[in-house]
Amino acid sequence: MKMKKSGAVAVIGAGITGMQASLDLADSGYKVYLIERTSSIGGRMVQLDKTFPTGDCAMCTISPRMVGVTRHPDIHLLMYTEVTNVEGKAGDFTVTVKKKPRYIIEDKCTGCGLCATVCPINLPNEFVGGLGSKKAAYIPFPQAAPLVYTIDREHCIRCGLCSIICESGAIDHDQEEEEIKLKVGAIVASTGYDQFDPSAMGEYGYKVFKNVILNLQFERMLSAAGPTAGHVVRPSDGKPPKTIGFIQCVGSRDIKNYPYCSRICCMASTKEAIVACEHAPELKSTIFYMDMRAYGKGYQEYVNKAQEEHGIKYVRGRVAEILENPDNNNLIIRHENTEEGRVDETEVDMVILASALKPSAGSEELAKMLDIRMDEYGFYQDIKQETPSVTTKEGVYICGACEGPKDIPDAMAEASS
Ligand code: SF4
Ligand code: SF4
Ligand code: SF4
Repeated sequence: MKMKKSGAVAVIGAGITGMQASLDLADSGYKVYLIERTSSIGGRMVQLDKTFPTGDCAMCTISPRMVGVTRHPDIHLLMYTEVTNVEGKAGDFTVTVKKKPRYIIEDKCTGCGLCATVCPINLPNEFVGGLGSKKAAYIPFPQAAPLVYTIDREHCIRCGLCSIICESGAIDHDQEEEEIKLKVGAIVASTGYDQFDPSAMGEYGYKVFKNVILNLQFERMLSAAGPTAGHVVRPSDGKPPKTIGFIQCVGSRDIKNYPYCSRICCMASTKEAIVACEHAPELKSTIFYMDMRAYGKGYQEYVNKAQEEHGIKYVRGRVAEILENPDNNNLIIRHENTEEGRVDETEVDMVILASALKPSAGSEELAKMLDIRMDEYGFYQDIKQETPSVTTKEGVYICGACEGPKDIPDAMAEASS
């Protein structure tokens, strides 16, 4: 008997790879259900200021795809939604999803933002790594898409002010979770990555010393749309730093945490040091590294440019610990200097940690539902090098950083493949 094929595909994860895969599939005539567990599409790339090695504005690069996804007639967005079950086989899958309540009706919300202006609750905004705040009625970032607000029910005090101000009648505090079953012929997983929180590694002083931050927090600081409007300032006193130390391989290439190389952070730190220097040419940056991974096209030239044109210093050697000078909140980096064969101490105003990339939360559960293999670190595994997106389960494909850390051009190429 000939099996009836479904012309629909479920894409799980709406970062740059999920969006690219969705656009390519929809343009090829398939109906796409794009499933995203957060309240906006865009993934990690929208947190970046610029991309390496071209120095292009990340938001300018991703925005046309965000608009394309929200407007495409054959892409059905399922926001704030998680996969709870997958049944069936290639050509005939049933994907069950749970759409979480936003407490705001998507079709009625105009994105005017009045609910946030009257909301009395201020919360740390995780999109900027806690460096800025948001209200209990919020969008994660100004360019969020679709432009629909969400109420953080855990912190909402039900004061009712948002319901009074909302002229569209979009607030619904009684909204309930919804279960939806999707019939699709194939599934693409593009669930991306999470950043390792190195606070358990006491030697770096993260979350202990105010002037030690992660590179994604620093990206938001560099962004003109970020919490400091593009000004690099020390969290301890709001003053511009004169010296910054970038610490590489935080949690990566480390048998106690993540033994693999996270692949993008050597170039990400180089880019951040260049951009910071463009903002403040007098700033002195030092990158403390173990090995420099500059393997892509134009990457080594980018590192050379950082050294020659911006005076960025590279010091080879593992950092043993970071201490704080309590008088001025400066940081003392104790590190080996393998080129000169000694242990040094370098004092800086601020430290940026290039922490490891790890599989995103929930990826193990999803792998079980999809019946696909993971490697020893929890990244999804493809079956053959010559067909990189194909998994052990027929009809299930993977692309982007859920397969392992990779830069944006590689992730995009996989998405289109
Ligand atoms: Fe505006 Fe109402 Fe949407 Fe809030 S919920 S952004 S007030 S339309
Ligand atoms: Fe904010 Fe909740 Fe009050 Fe609305 S009901 S204004 S979300 S605290
Ligand atoms: Fe370390 Fe560079 Fe690899 Fe990142 S890319 S883990 S900083 S060697």
